[in-house]
Amino acid sequence: MKIVEQIDAMQRVAQHAKKTDRQIGFVPTMGYLHAGHISLVNEARRRVGSTGLVVVSIYVNPTQFAPSEDLTKYPRNLVRDRRLCRNAGVDVIFLPSDAVMYPGRAEGLHSTWVLEDRLSQGMEGASRATHFRGVTTVVAKLFNCVLPDIAVFGAKDWQQAAVVKRMITDLNFPIELVVAPTHREADGLAMSSRNAYLSPAERRQATVLWRVLCEAQALVRQSVNGLPAASLKRTLAKRVAAEPDARLDYIEVFDGATLAPARRVQQGAHMALAVYLGKTRLIDNAAL
Ligand code: AMP
Repeated sequence: MKIVEQIDAMQRVAQHAKKTDRQIGFVPTMGYLHAGHISLVNEARRRVGSTGLVVVSIYVNPTQFAPSEDLTKYPRNLVRDRRLCRNAGVDVIFLPSDAVMYPGRAEGLHSTWVLEDRLSQGMEGASRATHFRGVTTVVAKLFNCVLPDIAVFGAKDWQQAAVVKRMITDLNFPIELVVAPTHREADGLAMSSRNAYLSPAERRQATVLWRVLCEAQALVRQSVNGLPAASLKRTLAKRVAAEPDARLDYIEVFDGATLAPARRVQQGAHMALAVYLGKTRLIDNAAL
């Protein structure tokens, strides 16, 4: 397994793979890897085959964090990340520094952004104003470094995958986006690097996100002709409020492909929510 820190070196590795007809499968991450990330690595390997090149980037992208958010305390453990990647058969870890990724940013010179301005408006985009601008910018930059044929993203960040898919189409990146299912703990909590912030009491209450999604699935299944979204959201908001350390940020029902909000919730609609457990903000989503 190679560790590559410079952009020109990464591009040379990618170009060599292309010359030798090896497909490149790419999994962008912010590190502090868990089994959810590794399931994306396995999917990338499945897609590119044993001769393909599987690249994982580990980069905590500062431009997708607001000043009030957890950039400086975002969990990091490179020793463990390297071991997990090696064990999963990753070929290359792309590990750029801030100076490499954003030359001139510290001096205020970085001034080019990639902006998706439709799908990124609601939900995460409404709660985190400049978040998706940072995501699309860094993902476009990473694509230009890694030159992947296939990029694997997690369904855990449903809106992010939709925004990146739109960017790939709109900007003509010759890349196939694969969305891999959300990996969960035994009690249903979606795996997330941010789960490491939770106190034992918050961790117990954090299952409320999955419980709410399961309840929504059951209610929609039992309904004859669907449910009004507003009353469903009110019912579920009460479940979140019943947890002493939980605070609902948003809960939305929408079309899973277009992200258009639904007024009536039918089977197959998509639901996403964001909940604070103490200071930690968790997100989850599922098809109903
Ligand atoms: P992150 O390191 O949190 O930026 O996530 C990197 C990639 O892993 C994103 O495409 C996420 O959607 C995906 N991911 C994070 N958590 C999970 C999970 N529990 N199951 C599947 N994919 C995940």
